[in-house]
Amino acid sequence: MATLQAGDRISNYILEQQVGMGSFGEVWRARHHVFGDAVAIKVPTDPQFVRNLQREGVAVHGLRHPNIVRAIDLDPYATPPYLVMEYIDGPSLREATDALKAQFPIPAAVVILRGILRALTAAHEQNVIHRDIKPANILLSCPLEKIGAITEQAVKVTDFGLGHAGGVTTQSIMQSGSMLTEEGRSIAGTLAYMSPEQKEGKDLDARSDLYSCGIVLFEMLTGERPQGTDELHGMRPEVPPFLDEVFRRSYTRLEKRYASAAEMLAGLEERGGAHVVVPAAPVRRGGRLSCPACEFGVGERDQFCIRCGQQLVEHVPRCRHCQGYVQREDRFCIWCGKSLEVFQT
Ligand code: ATP
Repeated sequence: MATLQAGDRISNYILEQQVGMGSFGEVWRARHHVFGDAVAIKVPTDPQFVRNLQREGVAVHGLRHPNIVRAIDLDPYATPPYLVMEYIDGPSLREATDALKAQFPIPAAVVILRGILRALTAAHEQNVIHRDIKPANILLSCPLEKIGAITEQAVKVTDFGLGHAGGVTTQSIMQSGSMLTEEGRSIAGTLAYMSPEQKEGKDLDARSDLYSCGIVLFEMLTGERPQGTDELHGMRPEVPPFLDEVFRRSYTRLEKRYASAAEMLAGLEERGGAHVVVPAAPVRRGGRLSCPACEFGVGERDQFCIRCGQQLVEHVPRCRHCQGYVQREDRFCIWCGKSLEVFQT
């Protein structure tokens, strides 16, 4: 296929810089020729991958979710064929885990896992199994230096190119580190993150993605992939026990695994993951306070950033009666009107 260069035009977009090279296609940052909005454009590297591009575009377009990279446009019949997606300005989880290794902040790992599980819950509800959950396919719209203040909204799952079974060629499988089974059935995905049933080329259900999530969680917290009976706290003693439990119920054989992404998310939240917030105080710049995550201006007494939702104080009081968020100094809940002296947590 034609070699692309910065300055080339695809549809309404001018290519700026190649930002990735996957097994099926190259990815470019581009800008709308009039509006200047940044987008990511994926172009297959070989005509045999056009179907993958089409499958990915259609699957993702149907999955409108804040934690899934949005598909904006698709033309598999153009020359070259292309898929336009929202551009995620930030590192992939692969880059983040490589840079931070075992120093990865534990609350950030929990927030990222929650974002991945919300994306998978939405995908699984529409019978789409991702089949290639791995750090390289999790994009973070948050600079590496600010990962300690990452919010759930900044977690974006991408690469649904294998999202539907079938039609994956031997070459593409080999290129993505995958393989054929002895019986010659094609399996797709990346070996190091694959569930045992996926490696064996068996029929998959949503639980296969959860196995991969267990490996991703382990790698975020320790910088390594699990081997055999490894446990998280054995590798990093400060990891809270509930995360070991979540890991053990995902990185295990099929029958013992969580039944769904929603169940894994509930398991994570019930055991403490819901209350893990990244303590992130506002930053002062030139006498002005701003949100540590999105840099929007915030007030001295703000508990949340009104733009991105970042929690700014460690403990935000809630009304015990209706669970609504309240201000520390309030005497009555603005949501249910009850006295906070009695009901506030
Ligand atoms: P593979 O199947 O080998 O995982 P692929 O050919 O399907 O890869 P992607 O994984 O989707 O390609 O993308 C390759 C790289 O391009 C990503 O790791 C990321 O660095 C970059 N990239 C992809 N999509 C975007 C996006 N929407 N915004 C910014 N960068 C992106």
